[in-house]
Amino acid sequence: MSIHITDSLTGKSIPFPKTKKPVRLFVCGPTVYDHSHIGHARTYIAFDAFVRFLRWEKQPVVYIQNITDVDDKIIARAAERGVAYTAIARRYERAYHAAEKKLGIASVDEYPRASSYLKEIIALIETLVAKGYAYQTDHGVYFEIKKFPRYGELSRQNLDAVRPGWRVEIDPQKKDPLDFALWKKTKGEKPAWQSPWGAGRPGWHIEDTDITQKLFGVQYDIHGGASELKFPHHESEIAQQEAASGRHPMVKAWMHTGVLLINGQKMSKSLKNFITIDEFLSTHSANALRYLVLSHHYRSPIDYSADAAHAAHEAMQSVERFAAYGAFVANAKKAEKRLPITTSQKAFAAALENDFNTPAALAQLFRVISHINENAFSLHYTDLLTARAWVIQMLAVLGFTPPKSQKIPVAIRRWSKEREICRGNKQFMQADALRKKIQEVGYTVDDTPIGPFLYHQR
Ligand SMILES: [Zn+2]
Repeated sequence: MSIHITDSLTGKSIPFPKTKKPVRLFVCGPTVYDHSHIGHARTYIAFDAFVRFLRWEKQPVVYIQNITDVDDKIIARAAERGVAYTAIARRYERAYHAAEKKLGIASVDEYPRASSYLKEIIALIETLVAKGYAYQTDHGVYFEIKKFPRYGELSRQNLDAVRPGWRVEIDPQKKDPLDFALWKKTKGEKPAWQSPWGAGRPGWHIEDTDITQKLFGVQYDIHGGASELKFPHHESEIAQQEAASGRHPMVKAWMHTGVLLINGQKMSKSLKNFITIDEFLSTHSANALRYLVLSHHYRSPIDYSADAAHAAHEAMQSVERFAAYGAFVANAKKAEKRLPITTSQKAFAAALENDFNTPAALAQLFRVISHINENAFSLHYTDLLTARAWVIQMLAVLGFTPPKSQKIPVAIRRWSKEREICRGNKQFMQADALRKKIQEVGYTVDDTPIGPFLYHQR
């Protein structure tokens, strides 16, 4: 089986046979005007795990994420705070990288900034103007969507239904309200660059198209991003790229991540229901967020709630406990029942190869975890250790931080030994008092055929 991805443009399953040539993946990066929230994290974690998986399968990948550092939102924020727009852009770019680091996102090869590509952006707009796809007004240069009949195909939009309420840029000289800005003319405000159409700055969509064209060429493998970006952003990227190059399709497959809702509602400024990455990490681990993300298919929506976060936290705790328990039980070395895991291994890889089905892959790992938890003392210890190591390794492939081995403090071990002696002497009240003492400092004690298993629940 080779890797297949369901293309969100055509709905078709696209094969990606293994090759030595790197898969060229572009994912829309952040607009750096504020802290990233867990909705952003959902997309970036999903693609991080995807790229890690491809590389583990020995499929090279070049993964590029752009930084939108020229944008109306950044300029507005800078004006609000009375600082230079670069101060805002660089500050939140640093914050974004810091958040990625905390989340264990480490698979991106390059983060090109839009501001470094002005020369190329201008050249691309000139091509579109020369080919008759773009026109100039007093306010800017626009892409004329009527000239590109497939506009709307990706998002399956009825453009006539969208048009009346569309007010992104108000310019009475626009031919169609949906025509989007390639270049915005400026009147003294910053940032501004010189162009054949006077001083100005690029529109958002052209920035990404230009970066991929420069780094990947006019056709490449996968474009990813949040599904909210389908319209108008990705729709416009297709229009610009294919109009300029005359080549179709722009990419072999589009991968869109589903929306992250908060208690069933869309995250929005007015509802004040944003949860930033740092806010989430102040109460939960990066592993918990990764589990929450990957226990859903990348295309499915996620409904975030305190309960969902807690369930993810508990799932990761069960992995930590399993790692400690598996190592402990292996000391028994007596049982002979074999535990073959080849079926689970095959099913794990097959799930991920089939449109990156992480929930199905995680289910395989958790099946092995519960099998070991339930049957530990009847299993052959080498098989048990192999299975344990496999689970931990596969979680690492998906980007989880491996469980830490626990060191049980001397005092706890002493209390546990004393408790064993009391139990031996049938002094059950004293034994229970010792168990309580151990629990009060956060440890659990489970009696097993090879003695007590001590564990610290974090
Ligand atoms: Zn983009």
